Amino acid sequence: MFYKSTRGEEVKNSSAAILNGIANDGGLYVPSSFPAITAEDLRDMSDLEYKDRAAYVMSKFLTDYSLEELTEYADNAYSRFEDSDPAPLVKVDDNTYVMELWHGPTLAFKDLALTILPYLMTGARKKHAIDKTTLILVATSGDTGKAALEGFKDVEGTEIVVFYPSEGVSDMQKLQMQTTEGKNVHVIGIEGNFDDAQNAVKAVFGDADVRQRLNKSGYMLSSANSINFGRLVPQIAYYISAYTDLLASEEISEGDEINFVVPSGNFGNVLAGYYACRMGLPIKQLIVASNCNNILTDFFSSGEYDTNRAFYKTMSPSMDILVSSNLERLLFELGDRDENFVKTLMKDLKEMGRYELDPEILDRKFPQFIGYSSTEDETRDVMDNFFDEYGYLLDPHTAVGMSAYFKYLSETIDGDTATVIVSTANPYKFPQDVYAAVSKSREDNAKKAMKKLHVFTGMDIPEAISELDNKDILHDKVIPKADIKATILALFEKRK
Ligand SMILES: *Cc1c(COP(=O)(O)O)cnc(C)c1O
Repeated sequence: MFYKSTRGEEVKNSSAAILNGIANDGGLYVPSSFPAITAEDLRDMSDLEYKDRAAYVMSKFLTDYSLEELTEYADNAYSRFEDSDPAPLVKVDDNTYVMELWHGPTLAFKDLALTILPYLMTGARKKHAIDKTTLILVATSGDTGKAALEGFKDVEGTEIVVFYPSEGVSDMQKLQMQTTEGKNVHVIGIEGNFDDAQNAVKAVFGDADVRQRLNKSGYMLSSANSINFGRLVPQIAYYISAYTDLLASEEISEGDEINFVVPSGNFGNVLAGYYACRMGLPIKQLIVASNCNNILTDFFSSGEYDTNRAFYKTMSPSMDILVSSNLERLLFELGDRDENFVKTLMKDLKEMGRYELDPEILDRKFPQFIGYSSTEDETRDVMDNFFDEYGYLLDPHTAVGMSAYFKYLSETIDGDTATVIVSTANPYKFPQDVYAAVSKSREDNAKKAMKKLHVFTGMDIPEAISELDNKDILHDKVIPKADIKATILALFEKRK
């Protein structure tokens, strides 16, 4: 299998795609074809532990890594999770399951991929005999930053720089990042939102002058954002694993279709679900859940993607995104893998901030996608009511997902399809908003809210949150968004 950019460039294998992160032409790498997953594969996988399922799924895409290598990576990565199953399914009602993807070191679903990406990267460096330092640039809406920092800190041959919107992440998310130790980590706030950070980082990737100057100083750039294909593959695994779990527990029978509900921002998580579907996983609907930054909802209903709109800061900051990078990979499939189709749309997006597609073609090509968005009030109500009814605490992102599911149920007669709500974060990452929603009283201090939430709900406070109390702030730099390029050069360019 080889890899190609959504804008045309080809590389010969997956390790080259992972090393580069983003293609030189500005496009995102995709596999030359989708490997198949058969009914027999699914049956066989039901007996395996999660790490072996993940290694098996990854081996179908990452054909220049051996199954042994991938098994070792998965073993190392997933031993950092609380439990032997990093993606447990919790049945909350008939046909309704929550897949908890937040038992990793930083308590968000990003850990499923970012605990393993450093191994994939280190393996790729060996395969390609890279002697330069891999300089990983990350733009984060809150969770990618900490997960990438935890994954790459003190990894030999790498430096990592994380840019986060200084006023656009939760207090706990910010604290998690600012307290990260490690000799190769840099954490920098920017005055701007996530889209500003992501655009600026992408511009650095596309800047031949910067690349060359860094190269001369001994660095090659890469990415730990979901634009890196190495982020997507481990995510495909949990969609398949959820299905095999339901098979193993006889909640579904072979061949049954299931739904997934995915709280979405940069479109990386749900795209992995789509790739699983393309491999042959029986998926009926992929329900794309958005907060009031509902650009994806509008896209799937009208075919119009228009970023000329207000940007809202919400309780679910990791979904406060208007430019969803991974949609480019979906457009590539929509246009039957024609790079010129993608290039035209991306040009429109750059020049006019919008592009438009025929909604009928969208419907015909992607019948599985359906989008719903929720207001802040709706999200708060879902957190509150769900806790009352099931004694189960949802974080604000997962609550946006649950709200989308309720909307879907009220519009269709599909109560019989097993549905997995992909739960993307632990509620203690957002203690003020979760506490306010379930208790109806407000505590604005994050650490106090964490304690009150514990008293109110009885849910254990994870150590990754409680230990923040005793940690020093090591990174407090904040820069204007226009200074990202200069800051990177100041940090890494060696001048004679
Ligand atoms: C990153 C994130 C999302 C959005 O995922 P995408 O892959 O960017 O669509 C949703 N919820 C949480 C908690 C996240 O950290």
